[in-house]
Amino acid sequence: VKIPATVKVGAMTYDIVKADGVLRKFDGTEMYGSIDYNAQVIRLSGDERFSAQTAQLTLWHELFHAFTKERGIEWGENDELYTEELAKAMHAFCVDNGLDFVGAK
Ligand SMILES: [Zn+2]
Repeated sequence: VKIPATVKVGAMTYDIVKADGVLRKFDGTEMYGSIDYNAQVIRLSGDERFSAQTAQLTLWHELFHAFTKERGIEWGENDELYTEELAKAMHAFCVDNGLDFVGAK
């Protein structure tokens, strides 16, 4: 699985960074990924149990957040559900059609 170092979403270039170890929310719960719209950084968990497949799915999840933010789409309370389902759909589409991460160099 190739994960690009940067991706462009609309006019914004996001850096994709692997965290040192586990990513946590302020309340201490573990996260697989996060997106900072202001700094344009997507962080993926550096947890050693985190597989390459999970990293790719997580990247799609964070990218769908970036797409909806860029496009002004607001899903309200369904935001995480729709984001995750679209991430799974895109990940499966890439796997099923023999595509590596779209745009990976
Ligand atoms: Zn999310």
